[in-house]
Amino acid sequence: MPDDNLVFLAYADLSGMVRGRAVPARRYPTTVGWVPADQSITPFGSIGDANPFGPLGDLRLVPDESSHVRVERLSQPPFDVVLCDAVEPDGQPFAACPRAALRAAIERLAEHHRLEARVSFEHELTVLPSTDRDERPHPAFTLRALRSAEPFGTDVVRALSAAGLEPENWLAEYGPGQFEVTVAPTGALRAADRASLVREIVRDVARVHQRSVTFSPVLDPDGVGNGVHVHLSLHTLDGRPMTHERGESAGMSRPARAFVSGIVRHLPALTAITAPSAISGIRLAPHRWSAAHTATGVRNREATVRVCPGATPAGWNVEFRAADATASPHLVLAALLHAGHQGLEEHLDDIRLLPGDPNGMDPAELAALGAHRLPTTLPEALAAFEHDVVARSWFAPLLVETYLDMKRTELGEMEPLTIAERIARYRAVY
Ligand code: GLU
Ligand code: MG
Repeated sequence: MPDDNLVFLAYADLSGMVRGRAVPARRYPTTVGWVPADQSITPFGSIGDANPFGPLGDLRLVPDESSHVRVERLSQPPFDVVLCDAVEPDGQPFAACPRAALRAAIERLAEHHRLEARVSFEHELTVLPSTDRDERPHPAFTLRALRSAEPFGTDVVRALSAAGLEPENWLAEYGPGQFEVTVAPTGALRAADRASLVREIVRDVARVHQRSVTFSPVLDPDGVGNGVHVHLSLHTLDGRPMTHERGESAGMSRPARAFVSGIVRHLPALTAITAPSAISGIRLAPHRWSAAHTATGVRNREATVRVCPGATPAGWNVEFRAADATASPHLVLAALLHAGHQGLEEHLDDIRLLPGDPNGMDPAELAALGAHRLPTTLPEALAAFEHDVVARSWFAPLLVETYLDMKRTELGEMEPLTIAERIARYRAVY
């Protein structure tokens, strides 16, 4: 790469934003300075008075070369991005760093249960209309809907391939202008890195094509939402698939059932991390094929955890559907791994499968299945997280404090606005 090209040292922060600074390639590898209060910036760019840092302190961003990607086919000049860990001046991990939180969750699962997760994030996004012709809704999933976004779509897939992110699918989804992009499963840290990079690369390709895209979870309160679905499977440290066991309940192994039981048990609190915007709750509603209840189902798209049977044992996985792109992928995965780990520690086996669509079911029947509505607002989700002592203990106290302060500042910014104005603000930044 020419010496004067830029390498962006990226920090994927608590709000899912990729911030950072660039150095000329000839200076790379290197570390760069960073400021603790940057962790308290809301998606809308303000730093609330309530943050643990104020103007004090220094951090360094240390690049993790395994996450380094180059996007050079279409984006001129080429852009290099490498995700970083934030460390204190003495080299210790910064306690509020989302990557450090995910590393800790991965290590805990490996150390205590000799297990690792393979993960893939599926992203839904909307390509906003750029001409009157685009306004015409194309029938869902059709070739013509897919072609309507060309050559943007092909360039997205090319750019992801060239960056080594292994795209698997690019499809026109159900909603107007809605698309979905999936990449191959990989280890948990790399999967969260990939999720951050996929969003940035899609945005960059859109910039080149002068298209406007958004991953925001809700564009129309009554319309289809954009979800981020997280597919997870368990494996032994030497790579043996552990999710499926023939003849067992729901075809899931005992560790997989314990893992999913832990996730479902901690679900209300988890949504404070996985669907954490002031509009995310609008998406988590019945009949949206997103996730509305604390429930598991096999091949059931109204279940928050969908069991996805595979053709081979390695193909079995579970899909967590209550996440969206306003979340940090690293925190989402840290929270899911810790919740699953909690289920393993407590030998939980509490999966009561939904027999069908939960929305037509009798409330008493739902209650008997342990299927309760997920929080519908961010204040409710944050309260659930604060009251879940176990969930809070998964993260460093500094991270919890910083996160809650930042989210409350974000809520304060959204409070005076109408729903339509809030939707417009999130659409613009995500
Ligand atoms: N758009 C739905 C969501 O908000 C997901 C639809 C699907 O792909 O199953 O999660
Ligand atoms: Mg989809």
